[in-house]
Amino acid sequence: MLSEVRRCAQGAYLDLSGLFPADTFAFLTLKGFDGTDAGTLSAFLAGRGLSVGNVHRVEQIHSGTVVDAREAPCGADALVGRVRGEAVRVVTADCVPILLADAETGAYAAVHAGWKGTLARIVQSAASRMGGARPSSLIAYVGPAVGPCCYTVDTGRYALFEDEFPGWLPPAGDRPALDLQALNARMLEAWGVPRGSIHVEERCTACSVGLCCSYRRDGDGAGRMAALIGMPA
Ligand SMILES: [Zn+2]
Repeated sequence: MLSEVRRCAQGAYLDLSGLFPADTFAFLTLKGFDGTDAGTLSAFLAGRGLSVGNVHRVEQIHSGTVVDAREAPCGADALVGRVRGEAVRVVTADCVPILLADAETGAYAAVHAGWKGTLARIVQSAASRMGGARPSSLIAYVGPAVGPCCYTVDTGRYALFEDEFPGWLPPAGDRPALDLQALNARMLEAWGVPRGSIHVEERCTACSVGLCCSYRRDGDGAGRMAALIGMPA
């Protein structure tokens, strides 16, 4: 799928709200719309039933750690929220941003899955903490990330993934590469989320010049995209 790019005074973003249960507020900022800047985010949220002070975030540390939104700020890579009038947010520039909502419990989550988080199965940890009795009530959005076209890795790292996910990787050949979006989507499916409820944004951040932030492509000047999900008051 490819979400529609929308524009506002703060810049371009993807409006993802329609993928989730009614009332859910979800979006991903694109290159130039700095999701880490409180002032910019505050202006965007004004009038949308959320305030920037109610957006929980963590210091991302490339771990498999999931926390409750009320525990933030702290070092972690996924947050689970349950309260109306609040939201959770992660930022990325090549790593996989994943947003989750549980149609039964009203819980929502934002996950930052780089290669370490993917290997640690952080998306499954986040899903399991959302309180639903059935994974079938979960809806997921797997956002743009560096794709296998651009994400070559050394044989050592490839072997770590082969060990953790036997049979899930295409043969490495002479160019081992990882598809972190596909691995995270497959983990959700293996956990019980229906395939039709897993929305994968098939967009490589490094290839999407001008649209996506990519640390591999732009280094320190890459900027960060914010993936946010929550419920208006
Ligand atoms: Zn690419």
